[in-house]
Amino acid sequence: MNGARMKSLAGIGMTSERTRVRMVERLRQQGIENEQVLAAMGTVPRHLFVDDALAHRAYEDSSLPINFGQTISQPFVVAKMIEALLRGRALGRVLEIGTGCGYQAAVLAQLAHEVYSVERIRELHERARANLRALRLHNLRLVHGDGNLGLEKAAPFDSIVVAAAAPQAPQALLRQLAPGGRMILPLRRDAAKGGASTGQRLVLVERGTRGYTETALEAVRFVPLQSGKA
Ligand code: SAH
Repeated sequence: MNGARMKSLAGIGMTSERTRVRMVERLRQQGIENEQVLAAMGTVPRHLFVDDALAHRAYEDSSLPINFGQTISQPFVVAKMIEALLRGRALGRVLEIGTGCGYQAAVLAQLAHEVYSVERIRELHERARANLRALRLHNLRLVHGDGNLGLEKAAPFDSIVVAAAAPQAPQALLRQLAPGGRMILPLRRDAAKGGASTGQRLVLVERGTRGYTETALEAVRFVPLQSGKA
């Protein structure tokens, strides 16, 4: 982790520092154990990523609306996803699909060497850029594009995080995952498929020498992964 960067962020949003400390304590109680993840979440001022009218709720453990029918992810889920990617290794070069307001991208940028984040809705992509400006994260690149296609020009990635739910892992993302790489994404298990379990679940995909393995983690609720740019 970049100690200098963590320090430079410390001066931003001092007013919310106490509530952020409480948020981190809550994450600990909820079972998040990785100190690097907890430190990064304690550093990024989440209130800068939501509308002023909702800023007082920024450190609650809930998702909140960010316009265009999209949401900022729940802190616990952000922490859980990054913790699963980090376990026993470094994040390396990261691809995030679904920038939204840019919050998770900012947390990832505290922990990774290099982060690329793709958003399909142009206005959100631009708003994320504005939200992130003050944080001066030089290792984070925002891209307006369709995340189903991944980001060929920066592939392969050691870690991929998808912040929107699909019925299955997009082929391009599986291809762009480096050998030994990990991807975490919410997958929809539709009743129509005849499965007993409906809803969404976080799934960890690991690319080994002989192919991909999937591990199902907790139940979650994300907005759907859509196609094309908007
Ligand atoms: N990462 C955000 C959460 C964003 S919500 C956070 O930190 O809170 C999910 C986002 O995924 C939405 O902004 C939505 O527009 C975007 N999205 C959905 N389908 C997409 C696609 N195919 N490519 C890129 N972004 C997509």
